[in-house]
Amino acid sequence: MGAGEVQASLTGGRQCGSVRYRLMRGPADASVCYCRVCQKASGGPFMAFGGVRLDELVWTRGAPNIFASSTFAERGFCADCGTPLTYRVLDGDRISVTIGSLDAPAAVAPKVQWGAESKLSWLDSISGLPPRDIKAFFEPDVGSHQHTDHET
Ligand SMILES: [Zn+2]
Repeated sequence: MGAGEVQASLTGGRQCGSVRYRLMRGPADASVCYCRVCQKASGGPFMAFGGVRLDELVWTRGAPNIFASSTFAERGFCADCGTPLTYRVLDGDRISVTIGSLDAPAAVAPKVQWGAESKLSWLDSISGLPPRDIKAFFEPDVGSHQHTDHET
């Protein structure tokens, strides 16, 4: 991993770029969660998180909207573009950011699977599906509105 990738693994934000954050250290306790709340919150089959202490997450632009997804946890997200950003147990001193919102998500690999009881039955088979390249959709000349994977 190069220095640029290490640096990018510490920053992230929402799709529309109106909220950005910086982590003061690399996320620990990285995990995926298959629970139904994570499925609903993401619209996908699971979510992936990496955690830091509350005081190690700095919002460098804007701030997320907060939804109390249960009596013990809340989730931060973008009300404008819908990007899920954080998960926090209410009485804890840690906060997790979504790995996909990091500028270098490949640098933070999950170490544990939560919510295994709700894991969708087809999930393990998707790595065997035919791969299709959609990189062209993210080229500037096709008009992506997604914020770039670096500070601006
Ligand atoms: Zn979950």
